[in-house]
Amino acid sequence: MRKEVAVAVVVTTAATVLGAAVLVRQWKRRGERRWRHGQRILRKFARDSATPVAKLWHIANQLASDMQEGLISSGDHNNLSMLVSYHAPLPTGEEGGIYYGINLRGTNFLIIRARLDGKNEPVTEIRRKEVSIPSQIMVNSDSTKELFDFIAIELAKYISVHGETEIARDKKLGFTVSIPVVEAPLSSGFAVKWNSLYVDNTVGKELANEINQALKKHGVEMQVYAVVNDTIGDLAGGRYYSKESVAAVTLGMGTYVAYLESPQQISKPLSESPKSGETVVNLQWANFNSSLLPLTEFDVSLDSESTNPGGRTFEKLISGMYLGEIVRRVLLKMAQEAALFGDHVPPKLRIPYLLRSPDMAAMHQDTSEDYEIVDEKLKDIFEISNTTPMVREIVAEVCDVVAERGARLVGAGIVGLVKKLGRIANKKSVITIEGGLYEHYRVFRNYLHSSVWEMLGSELSDNVVIEHFHGGSGAGSIFLAASQTQNAHS
Ligand code: ADP
Ligand code: MG
Repeated sequence: MRKEVAVAVVVTTAATVLGAAVLVRQWKRRGERRWRHGQRILRKFARDSATPVAKLWHIANQLASDMQEGLISSGDHNNLSMLVSYHAPLPTGEEGGIYYGINLRGTNFLIIRARLDGKNEPVTEIRRKEVSIPSQIMVNSDSTKELFDFIAIELAKYISVHGETEIARDKKLGFTVSIPVVEAPLSSGFAVKWNSLYVDNTVGKELANEINQALKKHGVEMQVYAVVNDTIGDLAGGRYYSKESVAAVTLGMGTYVAYLESPQQISKPLSESPKSGETVVNLQWANFNSSLLPLTEFDVSLDSESTNPGGRTFEKLISGMYLGEIVRRVLLKMAQEAALFGDHVPPKLRIPYLLRSPDMAAMHQDTSEDYEIVDEKLKDIFEISNTTPMVREIVAEVCDVVAERGARLVGAGIVGLVKKLGRIANKKSVITIEGGLYEHYRVFRNYLHSSVWEMLGSELSDNVVIEHFHGGSGAGSIFLAASQTQNAHS
């Protein structure tokens, strides 16, 4: 760099026309070389990320067979633990009345209350209240008691203010938990139990008993049947509206899947045998891993520098937590090796996780002629100014490659799941998706849908219906409460 500055000084002082022309040529040549190198980085990244239909099918088949294996073996050599998380009735769509739910989200929880009037009517009178959990409860308590007492007290307060005239249908309370990927400093006693839920499904019952004791103690006349992952609540919601609902997918910061399995398929020992109702399996697809996955050098370094190297490989390709970070890593390499943003690497570009997926989506979906939104985001987030439209276009292109790959892999995952259920050819299957990534990132959603269409063709793709979960985050708890309605017709 110094050299060029020196040359420039010489040139301007000498001010020879010839010198300037040489300099311009030099600059241009050097610029072109860098430009070409930048293009090479981008092309290689796009190639390594490619997800042609044949590859998607290999991945779908691998997921289907890993699921099968996970259902019969309880060992941990399989990367999918396939946890049976819920045996109970799911809603029929006939339930009606006022329902209450709690959605515990780490540092806060939601109290949700809504009216259901059967599947032909939309959910109405939906009210939500977010309550922060005091930090001393999260830090100090080594038991779940303090946390549950706090929730019960807050719920009692809420009902006394809002609900004198209404009674929760059958006194049922739905209770769901959404744990963010970056573990929130959750009440340690709760966190221990919640994590062990993935190994031992009796813990869910234990938690339900504890919350029920707290409710009773604080005079809340409601009962929790089971404490489950939020995604299971979404599946209950899907079922409420359609008998053909077979799975729910959460696509936000993290990713989760819950689906209905037939008990005959599960041959590993269950701690509790299903008596009545349906069997919901928590497919931990975040952990899905296969040599078939289109991993690039950027994914490898992201993983090795993450807090859980080697873990949650699929999630690191598809979820909202990571998409922007992959983009940042590609841009950093282009800045370092091809001077994408000029001679100096913008310092902020080195900060991990600074680019979040909503900003990535905004840049990606920028349709203005000169990529004005990209320009604005680069300034706001990375303090990069003076970019040319051509550079901004490259930035948008990197976002496109990352989003396209992630979305198509989700599509392959869904097709793999439907295939495992043997429903591709002859049955309709509804899959409910909830989460900010799916809800707000339009191009991502379009790529996801079109990958399913490409994999199945126009005829079979009619069998797989992907729907957005309409109740919003945490509202699955309402449908879970409805699952416990004694007599649907009333
Ligand atoms: P959580 O996963 O914490 O339950 P949400 O389901 O609301 O939260 O999803 C939030 C996540 O969705 C964000 O962390 C982000 O990754 C992603 N997201 C939200 N809005 C957008 C958007 N406009 N574009 C892309 N991704 C988004
Ligand atoms: Mg969510």
